[in-house]
Amino acid sequence: MHRAPTAGQFEPGTHPIRLQPETRMFVRSCSLSSWSAAGAAAVAARAPASPPPLPSSPATPPPKLGSRSMASSGAGAGAGRVRLAVVGDVHDDWILDEDTKALHFLQPDLVLFTGDYGNENVQLVKSISDLQFPKAAILGNHDCWRTHQFSEKKVDRVRLQLASLGEQHVGYQCLDFPTIKLSVVGGRPFSCGGDRLFRPKLLSQRYGVDDMAGSARKIYDAATAAPEEHSVILLAHNGPTGLGSRIDDICGRDWVAGGGDHGDPDLEQAISDLQRETGVSIPLVVFGHMHKSLAYGGGLRKMIAFGANNQTIYLNGAVVPRVKPAEAMNPSTISTSERDELQESASVGPMSRAFTTVDLFDGTVEKISEVWVLVSGAQAELEEETVLYKRPCEHM
Ligand SMILES: [Zn+2]
Repeated sequence: MHRAPTAGQFEPGTHPIRLQPETRMFVRSCSLSSWSAAGAAAVAARAPASPPPLPSSPATPPPKLGSRSMASSGAGAGAGRVRLAVVGDVHDDWILDEDTKALHFLQPDLVLFTGDYGNENVQLVKSISDLQFPKAAILGNHDCWRTHQFSEKKVDRVRLQLASLGEQHVGYQCLDFPTIKLSVVGGRPFSCGGDRLFRPKLLSQRYGVDDMAGSARKIYDAATAAPEEHSVILLAHNGPTGLGSRIDDICGRDWVAGGGDHGDPDLEQAISDLQRETGVSIPLVVFGHMHKSLAYGGGLRKMIAFGANNQTIYLNGAVVPRVKPAEAMNPSTISTSERDELQESASVGPMSRAFTTVDLFDGTVEKISEVWVLVSGAQAELEEETVLYKRPCEHM
């Protein structure tokens, strides 16, 4: 068993570890203070005069005095250390109190939600909007499960979800986080993947988007609105085309023999146009929709991919279901009666909750991990960390 390296740090003498989907690092009995202290150290490095933002995180990113004194030489430069926490497709697995405890433990500067909260689960989306962390979200295909059109007159569940999220719904929008020099730009809302627009009437009525080219243009325009010194994180419900067509590729079709590329062509178009025509820096594209567990027990999906020149990292955060009973109470190791009891108390018993953390330094992705945080009562601790990516540490 290996102990995972401290969050936000690199093991001394470690050299580039490109992509290690098979490298699983399990951390058990890791106290709250162990990972939390790492996050606190990262915060301290940015703002030595400020205490770590516990126990309650502010609604806006805390000031980072250290970062402002760093030399700035381009997009994202001078932003210092930044941690993102990605909440992949929720599918009704969200409890505000429990996820808040887990997030306090992880200490992200920004939380990203990839969509599919439930099937138009307005209450759940409202609960996410109540989360007291800086955040950005996008709605997925399940968030317009029954609503096919957008009406100014009728208050439907899509409108209620959009109203709850307000500016934090980034579909075709750019949301700036100046203190961490990041902007989050949203892809096409309600995407279901593939080469046809999902809910075309809704998209046309709400956003004036009638085809893939128009959609790509809106994503492009939103990204060019980001301040020049910001890096841009693209947040979409589904990833772009062009990242592979095998069953287990990051956007690969897993429900048909032979696979296929189920990415969003408009997102690929927008990214390639931005990279070709503008100086917009896109270190990271985050999405979900295509679940980690493949259909028909076909194994696990690749959750990370790299763009040309490795300038952009693509991250699929759809670890579904994202909540499971704590390891000690794993249903496969307990009796039927214990399991029934556990299911009855599932919402209050110790549960592990999945996130994908992304650590950036000056706008460049340093490390990406899938983490499971065990929340039990008032306690939160790291149960498991799987490092998906680690960057060479030239600056360390
Ligand atoms: Zn979806």
